[in-house]
Amino acid sequence: MTDCTAHRRYVGRFAPSPTGPLHLGSLVAAMASYLDAKVHHGRWLVRIEDVDGDRNVAGADQHILASLERCGMAWDGDVTWQSRRTALYDAALRQLGDLVYPCGCSRREIADSQLRLGGRQAQALIYPGTCRHGLAPGKTARALRLKVPQSPHCVRAFDDRWAGHISQDLTDDVGDFVIRRADGFWAYQLAVVVDDGAQDITDIVRGADLLDSTPRQLYLQQVLGLPHPSYLHVPVVVNELGEKLSKQTGAQAFDTGAAPQQLLTQALLPAARFLGMDIAATSIADFWRQAIPAWENVLAHTCAPVR
Ligand code: GLU
Repeated sequence: MTDCTAHRRYVGRFAPSPTGPLHLGSLVAAMASYLDAKVHHGRWLVRIEDVDGDRNVAGADQHILASLERCGMAWDGDVTWQSRRTALYDAALRQLGDLVYPCGCSRREIADSQLRLGGRQAQALIYPGTCRHGLAPGKTARALRLKVPQSPHCVRAFDDRWAGHISQDLTDDVGDFVIRRADGFWAYQLAVVVDDGAQDITDIVRGADLLDSTPRQLYLQQVLGLPHPSYLHVPVVVNELGEKLSKQTGAQAFDTGAAPQQLLTQALLPAARFLGMDIAATSIADFWRQAIPAWENVLAHTCAPVR
């Protein structure tokens, strides 16, 4: 059993990017973070991660919020929008000072340098540090990168409450990473760390596709002097091709204005089943009454307790 009573003040959050309406995959992440906050008598915040101006879809934020409400998931406090918090990211950039440098490399150049170096097949490009000591003549600054220590290697590890012990050598496997993109938008890694810190988030529950972002976030928390939250990454829902459900892979919105009963049977119950909760509810209110103890049961069998 997780010990709820002894737990420190818990603040969780759901942080959707408004790239489209919620689908089953994003509902799973929302449901897990909501239930974890409820089980720990914590607060549950909603933050719209709309820093990527190119991917935002007009009206998607309101659609997501309306769907959460229709599903009976009430958040605490005011919703925040990252696009309204850029002063915080500017301040973090100033705080990072000399750890940040301008980079003039295109993705193509980074990919080419990886091939030259014998190119390990990596999912993401490893930055070889080309502009670390200044831009080569003729290059113009594009992105801003954060220096990752070279010696000793910057290894960051954590105990994920679901996935177990995770460790990554940022020096070898990531390299200096982007905190402001070539198009001028703030990178997800910086914005998420600054906001989790500013909002005193203690517990992050999200999809396992973000497991490999976590070591970068731990490093950023350290250099910004922010506390490390506890993490729980739930498995991601995939389609029949094994791809993570997302707008790009054609995931369908579940909330198309259907009646609550349909939301229950077509969204809430399948999301709960995916998370290992066997619930036979007759209404949305009945669903949440059963889901809170059911999540406790999942935690007891799957997860390490929160610190
Ligand atoms: N905005 C991210 C997404 O929608 C989630 C970020 C997070 O939970 O840290 O995938």
